[in-house]
Amino acid sequence: MKVVFVSSEAVPFVKTGGLADVAGALPRALAARGIDVALFLPLYGRLRSADLDIGSTGMRIRVPVGGVQVTGTLYRSEVSGNGFPVYLVSQNDYFDRDGLYGTGDGDYPDNAERFSFFCRAVLAALDRLGVSPDILHVNDWQTAMIPVYARTSAKAAGKMRPRILLTVHNMAYQGRFPVETYPLLGLDWQYFNWRELEFYNMVNFLKGGLVFSDAVNTVSKRYAEEITTPAFGEGLEGVLKDRRDVLFGIVNGVDYQVWDPTSDILIPANYSFSDLSGKKACKAALQREMGLAVDASTPLIGMIGRLADQKGFDIFADAVAYLMQMKLQVVVLGTGQQRYHRLLTGVAAANSQKMAVRLTFDNALAHRIEAGADMFLMPSRFEPCGLNQLYSLRYGTVPVVHATGGLADTVVDYASGGRGSAAANGFSFSGYGAFDLQDALRRALGLYRRRDRWRRLQIAGMKQDWSWDRSAGEYVGLYEMLMER
Ligand code: ADP
Repeated sequence: MKVVFVSSEAVPFVKTGGLADVAGALPRALAARGIDVALFLPLYGRLRSADLDIGSTGMRIRVPVGGVQVTGTLYRSEVSGNGFPVYLVSQNDYFDRDGLYGTGDGDYPDNAERFSFFCRAVLAALDRLGVSPDILHVNDWQTAMIPVYARTSAKAAGKMRPRILLTVHNMAYQGRFPVETYPLLGLDWQYFNWRELEFYNMVNFLKGGLVFSDAVNTVSKRYAEEITTPAFGEGLEGVLKDRRDVLFGIVNGVDYQVWDPTSDILIPANYSFSDLSGKKACKAALQREMGLAVDASTPLIGMIGRLADQKGFDIFADAVAYLMQMKLQVVVLGTGQQRYHRLLTGVAAANSQKMAVRLTFDNALAHRIEAGADMFLMPSRFEPCGLNQLYSLRYGTVPVVHATGGLADTVVDYASGGRGSAAANGFSFSGYGAFDLQDALRRALGLYRRRDRWRRLQIAGMKQDWSWDRSAGEYVGLYEMLMER
């Protein structure tokens, strides 16, 4: 099986979000299973100065953009230990910029041109390289035009007849552009209709990808169902409903080389499910570091993430006065919307014994919180997959989550299937409100006092396998199914 994976970002090259983690780890896990895989990325300017072994293939790629021939060059890189090649499409005018998609002031105005160029360049490069993949796996709006070009133009597809899978990592980002950009795309106007590329008189790249791909998946089964409804579909629920028979969900994996308390080099003491004493040391160290009372019996709750409405900080804000009356401590790490910066700083100032806040991006601190906290709170309004609840499970840090998307697929409430059932690994609440959050936390705090039961719940989570190898196995199953069709 030959798989070509296309993304706009990937670790260790460039990262702005979870997509980069997937695009870095999934091809590696596929290669480890013996699959012939290659990854395509844009060559951003910042990569030229990075310490990465990237060399030109000398291959020039020409793409007509609105009547002008735009030329790019194909580069190649091999990440040691990865076992697959990475091809990078260089085009200085488009990709030698400070940001990937925009600046702090907003998106680049020519993103439609930049990423449609990238999509066509990838198809042209595959043709020139003589690579004919069985599976072309594209991701999010930036590469969603690949299926559109491959299916609408025999020339763009060359001799290839791949099956095309589109993975949607977050429906909130669709690549919507003014109709005036359409002529730059080199597509016949017949495709600009409400069933294909048009969305309220705009061009919608993600919609095009959803329509023209052979199959679509998101990063959890629950999110795949949710996005067929108006509450989560971001306007594309109708298209997704039409494609329901080829819409799948596969939960992302965790890189256990980086996130595992038995070997984590960023935490003060290592530990495992057979000996949790190191976790006690991590908790004491975290309490000290955060300026909270060092007390083993006070439950410590961690929160890490973008401070955005998506992450449920609105209901957390409504619940916080109630929480501050309970015997607990809260540690929050995150950056994002100013209103949450102000709110959290205010609560921490008024409750310095109970709440500590760090408004930065700090990976090492994220590890120390995962290791030192007793519980991890993730009240996201919606969550395509979510990673922190998976890290928490491995670290014996019991997740308390809103039952949505990937959180619903990975966290099984203590009370479901009979109290303390073997499948349980945390606490979850279905309604989205401050009261629901309070109720779930109250139940968690109650169990925390029953030390033996709590420990059993911790260990159940620590033993679970949310590795990339498991996810890669599911992707291979999906690829095989597509190839048989
Ligand atoms: P999303 O991709 O929606 O932001 P995820 O839970 O899928 O949410 O992944 C977020 C990732 O970014 C996690 O690895 C999390 O630990 C990390 N992260 C988010 N905010 C911070 C921060 N302020 N400091 C350190 N790591 C962070």
